[in-house]
Amino acid sequence: MVKEKEHINLAFVGHVDHGKSTLAGHVLLKAGAIPEKKFGNGEERFRKVFDTLKAEQDGGITIDLAHQKFSTKKYDYTVVDCPGHRDFVKNMITGASQADAAVLVVAANDGVMPQTKEHVFLSRTLGINQLIVAINKIDLVDYSQEKFDEVKDEVSRLIQNVGFNPDDVDFIPLSAFEGDNIKEISENTPWYKGNTLIDAFDSLSAPEKPTDLPLRIPIQDVYSITGVGTVPVGRVETGVMKINEDVIFEPAGVSGKVTSIEMHHEQYEAAEPGDNIGFNVRGVGKNDIMRGDVAGHVNDAPAVAKEFKAQIVVLQHPGVITVGYTPVFHCHTSQVACTFVELIQKLNPSTGEVEQENPDFLKTGDAAIVKVKPTKPMCIENTTEIPQMGRFAVRDMGQTVAAGLCLEVTD
Ligand code: GDP
Repeated sequence: MVKEKEHINLAFVGHVDHGKSTLAGHVLLKAGAIPEKKFGNGEERFRKVFDTLKAEQDGGITIDLAHQKFSTKKYDYTVVDCPGHRDFVKNMITGASQADAAVLVVAANDGVMPQTKEHVFLSRTLGINQLIVAINKIDLVDYSQEKFDEVKDEVSRLIQNVGFNPDDVDFIPLSAFEGDNIKEISENTPWYKGNTLIDAFDSLSAPEKPTDLPLRIPIQDVYSITGVGTVPVGRVETGVMKINEDVIFEPAGVSGKVTSIEMHHEQYEAAEPGDNIGFNVRGVGKNDIMRGDVAGHVNDAPAVAKEFKAQIVVLQHPGVITVGYTPVFHCHTSQVACTFVELIQKLNPSTGEVEQENPDFLKTGDAAIVKVKPTKPMCIENTTEIPQMGRFAVRDMGQTVAAGLCLEVTD
C-alpha cells in the first residue's frame, strides 16, 4: 500500500488588501492545482482564482474543495478560509478547518497594520503555533532589501510579543502578483538567501496526533440503527478508544461498554484522533445522549463546566459587551447560551499584557479575561490541558462576535 502523505492546513492571514487572496490563488496555480487557462492572463487572475473558489462555495453551487488543495513532494495541503472571509473563526474552532500553520501576509509598502496585529494575536489564541511571514508586494518597493529588512524587523517585534520565536520563522520577500520567490528563487531579489514560499511550507512540521491526551469525542449526531442499536457519530479529537472499554457521555452522565467502532463502513478495533467514527455503546439509548455531548473514558471523564474563566477577543460587535450579556457559545459540537458574569481584565490586543482591571465594557477589537456562566451544563476544558476542547466562538445576531479559549473551569 502506498503511504498517504501527511496533511497540513494553511490559513492565509493579514491586513485587508495586503494580498492574501492573490497569494493563495498564485500558490494554487504554481502548485498545479488549477488549470491556468480557466482564469486567463488578466492582471487580477490570481486573486480571481481564490475569490472564484470562495464564491462557488459560498453560493453553494459547485462545492469543489479539491480546488483548494495542493501537493508538494512532501505534504498535501489545504488552504482554509482567510479571516475576513465568512465565519473563518467559527470554522477554525468548531469545524474541520483547524489550521496547522498561518501564512502572515504583510505588504512591503504598508508594513504592519491594525489587522496584521489582530490576526497574529488571533492565530496565537486559536492555537496556531507555526508561522511563515510573506512580505508581499516587494515589486512595489523596487525589490528593496532595505525595505524588506525594515518590515521584517517590525513584524519580528510583533510576533515575538505574542510568543513566536522570529528565529524559527521564514521571512520571505515575494510578489503574489509577479510570482517572485513563490516556487522559484527570483532573480529580482539576489540579496535573499532563504527559502521559497513552497519550500517554507515543506519545512513545516505535520501536526502530531494527540493520542496521549485523555479520550474526547464530541458527538455530532446520534442515530438509531436496526440490529445495531444507538450509534453516536463524531470525530475523535484526542486520545484513543478501543472496543470493550467503558466510556461515559457528559454532560448526559450515561455510560456503557463500547461494542463496535465503524469508519467508512468498516469495523475497527480502535479509533484515534482525526477519525470520524460511528460507535455503539451497550446500554445507551438514542434519547440518553445528543449532539454536543462528549464521550470520554469513565475513569477520565470530560469536564462539565457550570462556570469558567476565559480569554476572549472581540471581533465584531455593534455595541458593547457588559456583564449580563448572554450570546451563544460554540465549542466543539455544542452550542450553549452563556452569560458574562465578570469582566476581569482588559488586555492589550497585540501583546496580551494587562491594560485595565475590571473594565465596565468591551468593544470590537478588545481582548480580555472574563468569567462566564453557561445557562446549562456544557463540556469545555482548560486549554492548557486539552487545547482541542477549550476553544470557542461566540455568536450573536448571525455573526461571530468573539473568539476565545477556556483558561480554567471554576465550577
Ligand atoms: P486581500 O484582501 O489580502 O485578500 O488582498 P488581495 O489579494 O485582494 O489583493 C489586494 C490588491 O493588491 C489587489 O488589487 C491585488 O492585485 C494587489 N496585489 C496583491 N499582491 C500584489 C503584489 O505582490 N504586487 C502588487 N503590485 N500588487 C499586489
